[in-house]
Amino acid sequence: MMKPHHLLTLLASVLLLAGCGRKEQAETEAATPAPTVEDAPSPEGRAIAITGNDQMKFSVTEIRVKPGETLSVTLSNIGTMPKFSMGHNWVLLTADADVSAFVNAVAGAPTTEYIPDSHQDKVIVATKLLGPKEADTVTFQAPTEPGRYVFLCSFPGHFQVGMKGEMIVE
Ligand code: ZN
Repeated sequence: MMKPHHLLTLLASVLLLAGCGRKEQAETEAATPAPTVEDAPSPEGRAIAITGNDQMKFSVTEIRVKPGETLSVTLSNIGTMPKFSMGHNWVLLTADADVSAFVNAVAGAPTTEYIPDSHQDKVIVATKLLGPKEADTVTFQAPTEPGRYVFLCSFPGHFQVGMKGEMIVE
């Protein structure tokens, strides 16, 4: 039986080797056909790609999921305006969140990427606030309770222009 710290050292070596081998592995994979999604169930779950733009719109405004389904939501900011005036994030709120109260509080939270501390408990998950050409992925379990969950961009004013949608758990 190995002592825990020996195991950790071994693990670190394996990870180091894996890191070194990555480039060659990628070249080998390029020669073989890419596996289909069905062939490769991923621990990251179902991938959902959403873009946000300078017109303050999400490309996806409705997401239907199964209760507890593992999801990987990627938000990409495809706009060109600077982050300080046109940043975007993707924030999923709890079913019991007071959306109006949340939206009214965001302007007071510039230091926490417009996620107000006072409403943090109403946030299921949120991406980083993204500037132009940036992207961020969040992996999480969908709520287990069927219902409609509001998602939005919490940059001040964007919700009001329509940068919002719903996750429907059914
Ligand atoms: Zn936005």
